[in-house]
Amino acid sequence: MGAAVPESQFLSYELDSEGFKLVADQLVSEAGIVPMLHRQFVAPIMEGTKVRGIIVESKSGREAILAKRVIDATGDADIAHRSGAPTFKTPIEQTQAASVMFHLAGVDKEKFMQGVADDPQTYKDWSSGEWQVETDGKEDDMFSPFLGKPFEQAIRDGLIPADLNTIGGTWGAVHDSGEMTYMNLIHLAGCDGTDADSLTRFEIEGRRQAMLAIEALRHYTAGCEGVRLRNFGMSIGIRDSRKIDAVYNMTETDVRQQGRFDDSIGIYPEFIDGYGILILPTTGRYMQIPYRAMVPKSVENLLVAGRAIGGDRVAHAATRNMACCAVADQGAGVAAAISVQTGVPLQEIEIGLVQKELRQQGVRLD
Ligand SMILES: Cc1cc2nc3c(=O)[nH]c(=O)nc-3n(C[C@H](O)[C@H](O)[C@H](O)COP(=O)(O)OP(=O)(O)OC[C@H]3O[C@@H](n4cnc5c(N)ncnc54)[C@H](O)[C@@H]3O)c2cc1C
Repeated sequence: MGAAVPESQFLSYELDSEGFKLVADQLVSEAGIVPMLHRQFVAPIMEGTKVRGIIVESKSGREAILAKRVIDATGDADIAHRSGAPTFKTPIEQTQAASVMFHLAGVDKEKFMQGVADDPQTYKDWSSGEWQVETDGKEDDMFSPFLGKPFEQAIRDGLIPADLNTIGGTWGAVHDSGEMTYMNLIHLAGCDGTDADSLTRFEIEGRRQAMLAIEALRHYTAGCEGVRLRNFGMSIGIRDSRKIDAVYNMTETDVRQQGRFDDSIGIYPEFIDGYGILILPTTGRYMQIPYRAMVPKSVENLLVAGRAIGGDRVAHAATRNMACCAVADQGAGVAAAISVQTGVPLQEIEIGLVQKELRQQGVRLD
């Protein structure tokens, strides 16, 4: 549907977030799902340790949605947490930075790309000052759509305050229409993604910093002289918040050493991005994702998918990536359906049936 646009990086695509909304609408409609947007989960409906549904609030007031099985895809394990399942949070001083992303309009694409060709940046350039990135070595000399120099210059010239030395990062794609998308330049340390006041404060601060970044681009980046803000992301972007303490928590060894599991629900390449580690998926090495990483302890009828699945810090730097979330989500959906069909609780599910169905859907499990 045209919602994946080639990036300037090796074999990489950016998802056009607006186009993806249309793709998602179509997928939901084709699957016969009744969409229920505009509702905020506020509390689980519990029967002992079993989740029987959720309470949501919205413009319509308060509603109870009953369910045979519940999948928590809130990214923050909101349902698991409120249901009493044990969860972890990275200590706030070690939490991955939050970002306010933005898109630009008015880029002179030809001039910008010429500037990139004249001074190509690599992943090695990500490491500067206090920001040190561990790689496998193979990443170091690869081209990276990295922007750092304009902000260093802006600090030297007093355009950006000296203490704001965290501005810098990647651009996504430049379009013939003059749009430059996914400007991932603002990194906000100390934001708690489960605290509304913290989210408010950092989102506003992120917008302020984004405008300083745009001013620096106008001054120091070829092709950006006439840019203006096109839009911010839908909200501040949170990389790291709650994760469940799952029946199996994935480990750093699993994601670095091609973990293998009998209850695999899909595979994911060796792609680690976070906590100062960047290992790109260029080798064909991969790990399996275990079903048990989505099963919370102490609570029944609930699976947790997406970036909140169980794992240690470095495991999370891999499993938080979008495509890994998609693998987990498909596994969770199929497992919940099979659990309902067979009447077998999620904790005791016959994994062979889940794997058979996933294979039929074209999922690679090993
Ligand atoms: C700035 C930034 C850049 C990133 N770049 C990349 C990248 O280049 N490549 C990559 O692979 N990954 C990237 N990631 C990571 C990746 O985008 C996320 O980890 C992943 O999208 C998480 O998916 P998810 O489905 O678990 O959660 P989300 O995509 O956050 O979805 C959760 C959904 O649940 C909704 N929700 C939450 N709480 C409630 C509630 N209480 N009631 C109702 N609805 C609720 C939210 O509105 C949201 O729609 C990036 C993340 C950030 C923040």
